[in-house]
Amino acid sequence: MNSNNLIKQTGEVCIVCEKQKEKGIHLYTSFICIDCEKEILATQTFDPKYKFYLEKLKRVNTPPLYS
Ligand SMILES: [Zn+2]
Repeated sequence: MNSNNLIKQTGEVCIVCEKQKEKGIHLYTSFICIDCEKEILATQTFDPKYKFYLEKLKRVNTPPLYS
């Protein structure tokens, strides 16, 4: 048993910035890094950026169908 392999595999790819981050939250099966989460929370709904984030988050709710 080599637990080093498990420790090395920290971090997941954030669905918003598409970078590998260690800290973040899980939304369903997707991962959002803490930086993007903060950004989303700080973005006003009238901000064009908000729509961009919303589009990213939409993918979380509508996963691709596998046939
Ligand atoms: Zn991110």
